Amino acid sequence: MAANLAREELIDMVPYQSARRLQAAGDGSATSPKIWLNANEAPGPGIYQLTGECINRYPDFQPDKLLNAYADYCNLPVENILCTRGADEGIELLIRTFCKAYRDNILICPPTYGMYAISAENHGAGIIQVPLVDNILDLDALSREVGNTRLVFLCSPGNPTGNLLPPEQIEATLELFSQSAIVVVDEAYIEFCPDSSVVNLLSKYPNLVIVRTLSKAFALAGLRCGFTLASSEIITLLSKVIAPYPVPGPVADIAVKALEKPALAQMSVRVQENNILRAELAGWLSEQSWCQRVFASDTNFVLFQTGDKNFIFNALTDAGILIRDQSKQPQLNNCLRISIGSARELKLLKQVITQAFAAQKSQQAQQTSTET
Ligand SMILES: *Cc1c(COP(=O)(O)O)cnc(C)c1O
Repeated sequence: MAANLAREELIDMVPYQSARRLQAAGDGSATSPKIWLNANEAPGPGIYQLTGECINRYPDFQPDKLLNAYADYCNLPVENILCTRGADEGIELLIRTFCKAYRDNILICPPTYGMYAISAENHGAGIIQVPLVDNILDLDALSREVGNTRLVFLCSPGNPTGNLLPPEQIEATLELFSQSAIVVVDEAYIEFCPDSSVVNLLSKYPNLVIVRTLSKAFALAGLRCGFTLASSEIITLLSKVIAPYPVPGPVADIAVKALEKPALAQMSVRVQENNILRAELAGWLSEQSWCQRVFASDTNFVLFQTGDKNFIFNALTDAGILIRDQSKQPQLNNCLRISIGSARELKLLKQVITQAFAAQKSQQAQQTSTET
């Protein structure tokens, strides 16, 4: 199915044959005792080292150690995994693989993550919008777009909305597009609600692709490391489009460490702490008279609606606290998004907002008293 959907020119295309990629078919180890004169690298052992791997050599196309570590983590065979420079690169690769520029479309369900549309625009793919209704999918509207799109992007848990999509809706979407489109489920925040992953549906739906990242719950946004999970057929197609050395050696080293047992346990603790702080912040927001709505969240952020959007945003900015204004997104009029920082940072945020309103109130009181 995927081969029929992909740009035809990719089917027979041979990806860039780097020395490293060719070597990986045989003995891929960069440290094996050979004389490496085939890739214009500097000779010698290299100056900078991380866990003994030298970075004067090009890295493996997809380092075995890293793929095996993620395979163990997500419980899939390595053939179903592609490591990318963040989830963002996975998104871009999917569009470049399945959409013919100036002809094919992607479908998004706004309000949603911005990179789907940005990558589509960059590539020249059209964008069909089927807005969420009450933060869940509009299946009737989706069914009317069957045949019009190559890719459907679902974000679950959603950014910036925060909520999971109902699993039965995701499955219904996979059924709807089973013959005509790839359905991408963006699970960037799935570690905050690990039981809700749709990874188990991969074997049932060959048109399902999942994108993941180490940027959020793993606290490694600076590392630029993400994963695309899909059928081996789709992984093979994406491997033709991705850069020849997408995983820098130091990135692989650190990512492997982040996927070891002690680091995974640490990640779970971080998630638990996050979820407690998030519940506290959401509870506090919902008690404030200036807050009209707090969105349910299964992530590391809270979205809320307030008539005092600019006042709050500016008061925080003046105090050096930056949050995200989401009010330009459809349906998110007057909405702000707060990422769950440390307990201390969130305490400070609450103080600044409380003090700003108190100062405003006393100023207003003064004005009224001088007027009367
Ligand atoms: C942060 C985020 C990404 C991008 O993750 P990177 O791995 O840092 O590129 C993708 N999708 C969603 C929904 C995100 O919030």
